[in-house]
Parts: sequence; structure tokens; C-alpha cells
Amino acid sequence: MRDMSLRCGGSGQGNHDSDKWRRTAGLAGMTRVIAVANQKGGVGKTTTCVNLAASLAATHRRVLLVDMDPQGNATMGCGIDKMNLERSACDVLLGDETAADTILSAPEGDFSVLPGNEDLTLAEVRLLQDIGREMRLRKALAPVRGLYDFILIDCPPSINMLTVNALTAADGVLIPMQCEYYALEGLSSLLNTIEQVRTTVNPELEVFGLLRTMVDPRINLSNEVSEQLVAHFEDKVFRTVVPRNVRLAEAPSFGRPVLYHDRTSRGAMAYLALAGEVLRREDDRTTTPM
Ligand code: ATP
Ligand code: MG
Repeated sequence: MRDMSLRCGGSGQGNHDSDKWRRTAGLAGMTRVIAVANQKGGVGKTTTCVNLAASLAATHRRVLLVDMDPQGNATMGCGIDKMNLERSACDVLLGDETAADTILSAPEGDFSVLPGNEDLTLAEVRLLQDIGREMRLRKALAPVRGLYDFILIDCPPSINMLTVNALTAADGVLIPMQCEYYALEGLSSLLNTIEQVRTTVNPELEVFGLLRTMVDPRINLSNEVSEQLVAHFEDKVFRTVVPRNVRLAEAPSFGRPVLYHDRTSRGAMAYLALAGEVLRREDDRTTTPM
């Protein structure tokens, strides 16, 4: 039996000072579940999950990162060996293990990880034959949900049953977008899927925000697409822009978030700024009268 602090992460649980701090910030008892999704490959979903998780944790939020991608990149990027998992997200989806027993602490960064690997492909195939298949992750996370301020779910680059499970478990979708010519291609099918999930199983679901990633301000096209996104989606687009930054690309090979690789890098700064923006949006949401 693994000890509880390892299974459910450090993140200041049971720490009275941080509990008090959270109450002051108006976040007590509220968990925000954010699916990071875009069926386009290589747009920065995993990079965003790992680094936003570490940055939110650095502001004393209790964070769980869920790896729903059979590639297991988020798991590896956090320094957890996807090839040597005793239990994984596959077991949790199939109901063979609980989330609490499967969650690990990230070796670097004060957050927790529900690790995933290629077994998730098996889970996806099995789920296809199941009734209530899209609810599996939501139900599995329910017993641990209250332990965290934020749960970030890394989705695979396709709209499949794993992504639908993530969207069903989430309250918001964060969509990373590369500012290039084909950026908007495929976005409408993701927005359609979000709408479908909202109208069928998850009425709470909303687009939390669009994040511009790998931006190179020296490239005119990057700036043009970026402006188009803002013109079209207005304040749904995060003000924070993630620049193309070699430190962000290197950090996964060391199995750590960029904050623990080079905290002064532009990549680390950008994800800290994103965490700040996410928290401000949350504050506005919880303090704005209905
Ligand atoms: P997939 O669709 O395959 O899951 P993804 O959307 O999760 O991909 P990432 O894996 O985060 O995308 O990023 C793709 C590649 O780009 C990775 O090698 C990553 O290290 C690199 N990368 C991501 N963001 C940046 C950045 N801002 N600057 C430089 N490199 C980046
Ligand atoms: Mg990925």
C-alpha cells in the first residue's frame, strides 16, 4: 500500500497556512476541471498541461494532471516512466483501479499526476462497447475531485472516446493553437464536439480559452493569425502568448516542467503569466454576480 501523501500529491494538503490562503482567495471547496484539447497534433497541449500544472502549483494551488493520451507525453514530461507504471489511467477508466490508488506525485513540481501510457488505446477500444462509456473518467475522478483546486486533462490529438471522456469530466476546455495558416482548420469540429457533449452529457462545459502557442513575433503570418483569432474569439483568447522557446522544448527530455529547468526562461515566464491569467479569470467568474 503506497502512502497517501504519494498517492494524492503534496501540494500543501493538510497545510493550514495554504488552506487559509485559499479561503482568502475565495477558492475553498471549488475545483476547476480543464481539458486541454485540440485534435490537431503538436500544437502544445502537453507542454501547456505540464507547465500550467507546475505554475499553478507554484502559486500554492493543489493541482492534478491527468494524462489521457496513449503517447504518455505528459507522464514522461513530469519525470514519470510510462513504461513502468504499476497502475495507469487505463486501469482507472476500465474500473479496475481507483484514481486515488493510481495518482502519483510529480518528482519535480508540487503537483499530482494520474499517469497514462499506450494501454489507454486498449481502454478506448474496450469503452466503445460500454454503456455510459463517456462518463467513465468523470465518475472515476469524483472521489478525488475535492482534493484539488485544478484538474488539467491532457487529451490525445484526435476526437475519440478518450477526448470525449475528458470533455465529459471537464467544466472548461483550454484550446492551444499554433498561429499558422491552418490553425483554424479542425477547430470547428472540436467546437461541434464540445457543443454535442454540452447538450447531451455535460451542460456545464464551456470553452475556457484559446491559447496562442509557439508564437514567433518575427514572423508576420504568426502576428496576422494571432490578430484574426482575437478578432474572431475576442476575450476567449488568453492575453498571454506562449513564445517559441527552446527551454520549453528541452525540459521534457529532463522530465521536468520548464520552471524547474530554467525558471528565468521566456517559456517559464509565459506559463507563470498564463497561470496568473487563469486565476484572474477564476476570480472574476466566482465573484461576478449571476
Ligand atoms: P500531440 O498532439 O502529439 O499530443 P501536443 O499538442 O501535445 O502534441 P506538445 O507535445 O506540447 O504538443 O508540443 C509539440 C512539440 O513542440 C514538442 O516537441 C514540444 O517540446 C515543442 N513545443 C511545445 N511548445 C513549445 C514552445 N512554446 N516553444 C518551443 N517548442 C515547443
Ligand atoms: Mg500531447
